[in-house]
This record gives sequence, C-alpha cells and structure tokens, in this order.
Amino acid sequence: MSEDCIFCKIVAGEIPSDQLYQDELVTAFRDISPQAPVHLLLVPNRHFNDFGEMGDEQGELMGRIAQVAGQLAAQEGVASDGWRFVTNIGAHGGQEVLHTHFHLLGGRPLGPLLAR
Ligand code: 5GP
Ligand code: ZN
Repeated sequence: MSEDCIFCKIVAGEIPSDQLYQDELVTAFRDISPQAPVHLLLVPNRHFNDFGEMGDEQGELMGRIAQVAGQLAAQEGVASDGWRFVTNIGAHGGQEVLHTHFHLLGGRPLGPLLAR
C-alpha cells in the first residue's frame, strides 16, 4: 500500500468504487469518468507506479490480468465486437494516476488509437 495512492485505497476498499472483480492479485472497477459505454480499470492489488516498473517477477500477475480482461470483456458484452486494452505511462503517455492500471474500453467503435 502506497500512502495517498487513490487506487491502493480503492483496492483496500477505503474509497468506494463500482467494483466488478477482485482476487488476490487483481481488482477491476468502472472508471469514474467513462470515455466509452464500457470503460473499466484493471489494477494490480500491489502498488507499482507504472507498467514500466513491472518485470519478469510479475508474470503470474500479468497472466491473471490478461485472463480477467478477457472474462470481463465477455461479461460486459464487448468480446465479439472488439475492445481496446491500454496502459498509459508517464507524462507523454498521459498517465494521471501513478498506480499501474489498464483501461478496458468498448461498446462503440473507438476510432484511431491516437487523436490526430
Ligand atoms: P490515466 O490517465 O492515469 O491513464 O487514467 C486514470 C483514470 O482513472 C481516468 O480515466 C480517471 O477517470 C480514472 N479515475 C481517477 N480517479 C478515479 C476514482 O477515484 N475512481 C475511479 N473509479 N476512477 C478514477
Ligand atoms: Zn497504489
């Protein structure tokens, strides 16, 4: 647990969230400011500042995140039409919350990856 980290507090249940899934490694909840009909956040329960800090030792965790993402995409009804799974890193990546998180987006055509 990192002091003053909003996602650590969500994982611990200290800040409420619309939680969809939690196990010993991963928590998933709805983004508070959705940018698509389906906009979920998947986070490791353990604090990492960003995806670039994660490595080989997080193999089990990363596998779990992939599995949970697929499961939630199906549950949310976006598996067949397609969805996007992205993580922002650092200033140029547009990362606002410094706790590794993956955006699961879908429910409409999402357009190009980057604004042109
Ligand atoms: P980033 O820009 O860091 O990749 O994404 C951070 C995301 O976290 C944003 O989409 C933002 O709406 C979401 N977010 C920020 N604070 C909260 C919160 O307290 N609860 C939830 N559910 N989402 C949050
Ligand atoms: Zn954290």
